[in-house]
Amino acid sequence: MLDTLKKRFEKALGLLKNKGKLTEEDVSEAVREVRRALLEGDVSLKVAKELTQKIKERATQREVLDSITPAQQIQAIVYEELVNLMGGKTSKGIVFAPKPPTVCMMVGLQGAGKTTTCVKIAKKLKGGHKPLVVACDLKRPAAVEQLQILANTAGVGFFGPKAGEGDLKKLIRDAMEYAASRLHDVIILDTAGRLHIDDELMRELVEIKEIASPTEIMLVLDAMTGQEAIRVAEAFHGELALTGLILTKMDGDARGGALLSAKAVADVPVKYIGVGEKLDDIEVFDPEQMAQRILGMGDLKALAEKVKEAAEGVDMEKVAKSLTKGKLTMEDLLQQIRQIKRMGPLEKIVEMLPGGGKIKELAGSEMDDKRLKHIEAVILSMTPEERRNPKIIKGSRRKRIAYGSGTSVQMVNQVLSYHKNMNEIFKQLKGRKGKGFRLPKGL
Ligand code: GDP
Repeated sequence: MLDTLKKRFEKALGLLKNKGKLTEEDVSEAVREVRRALLEGDVSLKVAKELTQKIKERATQREVLDSITPAQQIQAIVYEELVNLMGGKTSKGIVFAPKPPTVCMMVGLQGAGKTTTCVKIAKKLKGGHKPLVVACDLKRPAAVEQLQILANTAGVGFFGPKAGEGDLKKLIRDAMEYAASRLHDVIILDTAGRLHIDDELMRELVEIKEIASPTEIMLVLDAMTGQEAIRVAEAFHGELALTGLILTKMDGDARGGALLSAKAVADVPVKYIGVGEKLDDIEVFDPEQMAQRILGMGDLKALAEKVKEAAEGVDMEKVAKSLTKGKLTMEDLLQQIRQIKRMGPLEKIVEMLPGGGKIKELAGSEMDDKRLKHIEAVILSMTPEERRNPKIIKGSRRKRIAYGSGTSVQMVNQVLSYHKNMNEIFKQLKGRKGKGFRLPKGL
């Protein structure tokens, strides 16, 4: 996510590292790099100028330049300004109505990801709420069908127009009644999209707004469209008074322009970001987290959440038992691998670590999810006896496992040696008793 922008910022701030004291010239050079990073990221000229001006003003103050860690202080200033630019500590996610139902109207151009996002949000809310998604497009039956299919997949309520229905007001009223009768407390309206903004679309959206009195009107924007997204936001905001923006396709090679300019231009906060095609690929947007990611400071909060999610359903007692035994079976290893897999693509995980960009560069193809699948396949091709006692896995067994798992003897050897190394760690943990322990070779 935002790889180019991250690299540029790393370069800009890298100019200041390893320098004991900074001169105003050092700061100017770094700020010029920051500006270049922003402009290359397709941030609007106005926003780039204002931001760099602020950073420069703050960074050239004497107490910053004379401090023991000027580079860190300047990083902190850039961080704060980025957070402010992206909305500061604004409300996160949907704001619920004081009295249910909360009506959330989703608007946007065709292809921005509106339908997918409606269902992603409904799925995210499903734990504590009973959301209903409503198809409001009377002209495109395919759009209605798409919403219905996605809603079924996600296991959330769906309401849509009957074939040939042409009265939008009636549809919205029916949807509200349906929601009330089934105790849905959040109603998400998937409004019609067009390829371009036109008067008819806007009239229709204003009409829906009047009938449904939504608490939230959120515009879904494709982050890959950069500055164009900002123009779309201004047009929709002018007609509808938006309450939030959602930027989709942040997982692609979006350069960041839309994200960093949105709040400054339309003064509407970004509430969610879409980070993939799957229905779980959505995050409540948090300016602090995003600034940390952009500056390579890692995103430990998101990582902690991922770890927590992945740990759900893991038998901790069993893990603790293997620890006290000081022995790790292949079954334990399999569970570990599955846990890592549940956390999602390794690339995304590594990005959340401090300096993640650098780790990714170093690791290259090693950070491959395919590798995890291969390890899993190898373990699954072992007999229960082999899993309990991997020592018996010699030449012919290795060949059989390689064949059975569709991998190679080399891969089987790697899994066995990984298991052996992990076991050494377990043994040391058991016998540690307050002493430190060394990592085995190769890890
Ligand atoms: P709509 O016309 O605005 O309703 O857009 P759709 O919901 O049909 O989405 C258009 C395309 O964008 C679909 O192929 C989605 O899978 C894809 N899409 C939506 N959100 C994301 C996202 O966050 N990341 C990626 N990679 N694709 C997305």
